Amino acid sequence: MTEIDEPTGPPVTLIDAIDMSKLDSKFREEIKSMPNGEELSACFACSTCTAACPTANMWKYKPHQLIRMILLGMREEVLSSNEIWLCLTCYECQERCPQKVRVTDIFFDCKNLAAEEGKIPVNVLALAKELLTKGQLYTVTADWEREDMGLEPEVPGLSVEAVKTILKETRTKKLVGGEE
Ligand code: SF4
Ligand code: SF4
Repeated sequence: MTEIDEPTGPPVTLIDAIDMSKLDSKFREEIKSMPNGEELSACFACSTCTAACPTANMWKYKPHQLIRMILLGMREEVLSSNEIWLCLTCYECQERCPQKVRVTDIFFDCKNLAAEEGKIPVNVLALAKELLTKGQLYTVTADWEREDMGLEPEVPGLSVEAVKTILKETRTKKLVGGEE
């Protein structure tokens, strides 16, 4: 009978060790004080949010782990994570949370905080700049398809100038364009 090699090292299910000296005890209250954070502390780590998420299997930190990291005060890790930007905002997690934790909206708050600190991924930054400049991300070119469906060739009511003005007058320009 051949012996099976014993696996070495920690189980793959363990996440990285937490550096307690880097925890920010105010982070939990910071998120809780925002309009979406009221139920944050009610999370009991059931992982339903992660089970519902269509993309979490690709993420290093799963939704329930990110919520736990917020509760623990892992501000730097959460706000620097790719995951908050990878969220599709499909709300599957939030809809299913038995504790009514506003998971998706909390990730929005995290993105806003990260953006304020200049932690915006380059691809998101590029899209935002495009939106600021052109007022839209995609131009409808297949007007013949619209006509085939009995629609007007041009999208009615589309005002790229209005979008550009709104973005310039709001914090988007400051955050994306680096202006005061
Ligand atoms: S579903 Fe809700 S209670 Fe369960 S881990 Fe996710 S946030 Fe926490
Ligand atoms: S909203 Fe984001 S975190 Fe929630 S299920 Fe959808 S992709 Fe996953």
